[in-house]
Amino acid sequence: MTGLSLNRPADLVRLYSEATQALERAQALERQALRIKSKYMNQYELRRPVSAALWCDQGNHAFSGNDEGRSEYTRRAFDVDGDPITKTFTVCGPCDRKQPPFQALPPAVQDAVPGVVAE
Ligand SMILES: [Zn+2]
Repeated sequence: MTGLSLNRPADLVRLYSEATQALERAQALERQALRIKSKYMNQYELRRPVSAALWCDQGNHAFSGNDEGRSEYTRRAFDVDGDPITKTFTVCGPCDRKQPPFQALPPAVQDAVPGVVAE
């Protein structure tokens, strides 16, 4: 600040005015930056695919909720009082293709397993 003196009232007024303007510009830039950040975060959150971890009841492991080959099986069971309850069995795509749950054993396997009677 060459040429300005804190002892001269006119210089003090000018410095105060310039400092005030600089502070107002900085605050305006901060508001603009926050608006841009907020807009970007909203777009990012909306476009980001939601993914959740699911549990594969067949293979006993976690897998991505984005697995399009996954299956859900529901079956009716009964509690200790004999009241019907619905159970959901979630299976990842690879496990479902490998060995679908609740699938009847093929006749050849039924014949080979003692105690299993083919229908
Ligand atoms: Zn699995």
